[in-house]
Amino acid sequence: MTLRPKPTMEELTALCKRRGFVFQSSELYGGVNGAWDYGPLGVELKRNIREAWWRDIVVLRDDVVGLDTAILMAPAVWRASGHLDNFHDQMVDCKTCKKRWRADQLTTDRCPSCGNATLTEPRAFNMMFKTAIGAMEDASSEAYLRPETAQGIFVDFKLAYQTARKKPPFGIAQIGKAFRNEITPGNFIFRSREFEQMELEFFVPPEPPEEAMRWYDYWVGARYDWWMRLGMQPERLRKTPYSGADLAHYSKATTDLEYDFPFGWGELEGIAHRGTFDLTQHVAASGKDLAYFDEESKEKYLPAVIEPSLGVDRALLAFMLDAYERETDRTVLHLHPSLAPYKVAVFPLVRNKPDIVDLARRVELGLRPHIRTTFDDSGNVGKRYYRQDEIGTPFCVTIDYDSLSGNDATVRDRDSKEQVRVSLDMLEVHLRTALGKI
Ligand code: ATP
Repeated sequence: MTLRPKPTMEELTALCKRRGFVFQSSELYGGVNGAWDYGPLGVELKRNIREAWWRDIVVLRDDVVGLDTAILMAPAVWRASGHLDNFHDQMVDCKTCKKRWRADQLTTDRCPSCGNATLTEPRAFNMMFKTAIGAMEDASSEAYLRPETAQGIFVDFKLAYQTARKKPPFGIAQIGKAFRNEITPGNFIFRSREFEQMELEFFVPPEPPEEAMRWYDYWVGARYDWWMRLGMQPERLRKTPYSGADLAHYSKATTDLEYDFPFGWGELEGIAHRGTFDLTQHVAASGKDLAYFDEESKEKYLPAVIEPSLGVDRALLAFMLDAYERETDRTVLHLHPSLAPYKVAVFPLVRNKPDIVDLARRVELGLRPHIRTTFDDSGNVGKRYYRQDEIGTPFCVTIDYDSLSGNDATVRDRDSKEQVRVSLDMLEVHLRTALGKI
């Protein structure tokens, strides 16, 4: 398959707004910087991305269980994890235009906005959102919105493995909101202040060290394959391993999966071998014993952790950019069928023939409980194809005059535009097979 040219961010954001994938949060009141709403199609795509991950990581595996922990956690968690002391970005302010920048993103000593050399010295800025629990706003009520979902997993580690009766190697997965007061949110939904993460903490015996490294290599490969299976173009996804000084101090190995965005290569997902750092921190801070006791070998140990972590919003952006193609007469989203908001659209050829409309409605209602289906009778068939192609619907089914006598319909393929005639008795089986094949 030939590599599709990259769309511009403007083309994609226009499509997202026009078709109801993503809106700016509180647009009615002028918007909020770094927060986004997902419209009727965006919410479907986002659910499908979560579902594809959950199915691969939890449902199909016997060695991973799920968890859903609270966004508000004891502040001591963030002290122990290092977020209170270390979760900083260095920021600089421009004394002329008052804009604020991340120091590591500046290439000169001049303000990128007004061009003046009036930037302050870098100052540390903690990215956690602070809030208060209860009616009294004093030091004892202080709390934070979680900046990652992972800590909920570490804190509940013992409860989860005991109740699920799991022993290392095994994992705990979580999907949920995370909040970071990013200094410079931007590139649409790539960097937001409120976003969603999908994180797996995979616990393995720390000895022998080669065994933990094997699991790390395994997860780098497994995660790369997931993106490939969902149709991502291989030329646009790369593995970037980090070593030496580029590694976080606790990390034994890290690989980023990076996507070739219109604004350059950017992190989509990080896979990190975190050693026993996180559990060790929580044991020290809580005074509780979190060690795993292996009944068989009578050994007691703190497991090491391999962590694949990605953002749902960033994944949505990458999947949409990757699927986007501007052809001479149409725009198509070549989304993988399992991600497409609708799998099938049913049309009556004309709106003014009750028999045709009735049959189309019956076909739609027959499919709806089994395959995500939509109905469209506005404009002419050409316009409807155009609309469905642009939102990535893999198949359109048109009920026409011949359907009334022949009990069949035209099924049109999004990618090839090929049309075939299919008996209505076989329609669901035909669509299921065709959707499974792509
Ligand atoms: P970056 O270097 O881009 O700030 P990070 O290395 O801090 O990201 P992690 O803490 O490793 O990111 O978070 C894991 C994943 O969560 C990232 O790979 C990304 O997909 C997602 N993510 C992190 N920060 C944001 C954000 N501000 N907006 C949207 N997604 C994010």
